Amino acid sequence: MTQPDGHADLAHPARGRGWRLAVALAMAACCAAAGWGAYAVALQRYVATRAEEAGQRTTFYAQNLRSTLARYESLPRLAALEHVLHVALLEGSQAGDATMRRAANAYLKEVQAATDLAAAHLINTTGLTIAASNWDLPTSFVGQNYAFRPYFAEAMREGLGRFYGVGNTTGETGYFVAAPVREGTKPIGVVVVKVNLDAFEASLSRSGDTVLLVDRHGVIFLSSVPEWKYRTLGTLSPEQQTALDATRQYAPHTLTPLDTQAGGVPFSADRPPQAVRVALPGKSVSTLRVQYRPVGLLGWQVVVLIDPRDEQRTALVAGASAAFAMALVFSVFVALRLRTRRREEQRRARAALREVQRDLEARIAQRTAELTSANTALASKVEALDATQRILRETRDAAVQAGKLAVLGQMAAGITHELNQPLTALTTLSDNANQLAERGRIDEVRGNLTLISQLANRMGRIVSHIKAFSRKGDAARAAVSVDEAIRQALMLVETRRRQVGVTVTAPPVSADLAVWANAVRLEQVLVNLIRNAIDAMAETSQPESAAVHVSVEPIENWVRITVRDFGPGIPADVLPRLFEPFFTTKDDGQGLGLGLAISLAIIEDFGGRLVGQHADDGAGGAEFVIELERVVKPHA
Ligand code: ADP
Repeated sequence: MTQPDGHADLAHPARGRGWRLAVALAMAACCAAAGWGAYAVALQRYVATRAEEAGQRTTFYAQNLRSTLARYESLPRLAALEHVLHVALLEGSQAGDATMRRAANAYLKEVQAATDLAAAHLINTTGLTIAASNWDLPTSFVGQNYAFRPYFAEAMREGLGRFYGVGNTTGETGYFVAAPVREGTKPIGVVVVKVNLDAFEASLSRSGDTVLLVDRHGVIFLSSVPEWKYRTLGTLSPEQQTALDATRQYAPHTLTPLDTQAGGVPFSADRPPQAVRVALPGKSVSTLRVQYRPVGLLGWQVVVLIDPRDEQRTALVAGASAAFAMALVFSVFVALRLRTRRREEQRRARAALREVQRDLEARIAQRTAELTSANTALASKVEALDATQRILRETRDAAVQAGKLAVLGQMAAGITHELNQPLTALTTLSDNANQLAERGRIDEVRGNLTLISQLANRMGRIVSHIKAFSRKGDAARAAVSVDEAIRQALMLVETRRRQVGVTVTAPPVSADLAVWANAVRLEQVLVNLIRNAIDAMAETSQPESAAVHVSVEPIENWVRITVRDFGPGIPADVLPRLFEPFFTTKDDGQGLGLGLAISLAIIEDFGGRLVGQHADDGAGGAEFVIELERVVKPHA
């Protein structure tokens, strides 16, 4: 990838992150807006629905109460027709007739029991109760004056009186309906029935709604919440308070406003409060909405309170659901986008991979081509090396041959001497033999001939050996007897040895001891080393005083042949150049400097080692050590 691309890649993630954050924030804002919108709409709808439902239920409670009250409406009128009551009232006005009153009591009790009333009683024109269904109870109304009760006055005046209030005698609340007992058209008393609305109140408590029944002053006289009974919606004006005191409607209860925060606004049936701040039992203070339905002829209203928190809660659920749904939609959208992007990335990655693969293949092909050409070059180099090695081998063989010839050349004088000696002897012996033959001394002639034959043999051996040594033989490895090689070498250096006057000791070696070498070449090496040793001894003042030692020592699978002299040794400056071709310290013509170089090549060719060093035993001189692989014969 190029540098600018790399920069673009680096810049991208930061920009992408900012963009993603903005999108995430926008999505969150959308979710919040959707949630809020749904909440608002749902709240509006729930409020409307709830108001409608509450309205229906309010109507239902009102009708229920209306029908309950209607049932008792005509009861006092009917009772008022009863003759016994007439008599009691008329009799009662004349200081009372106990019998009549008892009859009235019995009748009223009967009415009370038959129609499930709280009580029924008969009041005379002064408001005094002269008979009652509860005449025999401690809470008997008989003797009580109820002239202060509005129902009495209304019944006397208008023909029917209605009132709801706390029983003055019993302390029990009830709905009083009163009808006049007439004599002709003239009212002579009033029959009152007291209806107990406890059952209705209990049904309100069970309804699950917060239902109240308020009078025209806003006083709650029936309630599904027991604690709210005798509280007021709004406050009571002084006039209202006075009116209530006059009728002792709710005495002895103190009437306190339900909503203490309402601010002292008196209750008005025309404009009742639409909301009250109050704590429902077990709940915190909240503003409740209010629904009203008028009921009955006393200015009562059925009131249903609605807790808006329920709607808010439901609307909140709707809002949360909308926000969640929106979030879900976004999540699906984001997931789809991510999937698309991931696929796109995968596609791009695959394409990049293919590109890399192609690149790699191209590089492999290029590298293979390079390798092939390198291989070809190497093969040709190997070939060249082989050729060089072959040339080297040939050159070395030539050098070995040259070395041998050189040795022979150096030995030429000695060999000549070696051959001259027997030749002279032969001449003398043959001359001698002639003379002896002339004298007829045949036996001595024979003796001479035998000697001649021996000398000729010896010369033949020398010649044949020199011939063999100088022959350009093949260098194949074979088992070579160490003893044999040493003996042949000693013979070849014999002339030189004698010339210098040095002793060469070579203790006999087991004839079985053999090494992997080539006989002629090993002899050539030994000749070189022994000759060098003799030459070194020649440099000393008394060469005869010491000897050249040729020793043989088998070491495991190796055979070590050491040539040791007591010459001047090898100077430090010569040592590193010892095996260098054409390096010699010998006076002109005496040395070619090839002996050791060729010897090393031969020994290494056999897989052996050749080292030359200053002898380290303190006696001076040099020692050359050959190590060759031993021929291990299989045990029989
Ligand atoms: P050359 O004998 O023809 O000089 P060599 O290769 O055989 O060639 O020997 C190289 C040189 O090594 C000799 O000239 C001589 O200086 C040194 N050298 C060889 N053998 C001995 C020895 N035994 N003692 C001291 N010097 C030696």
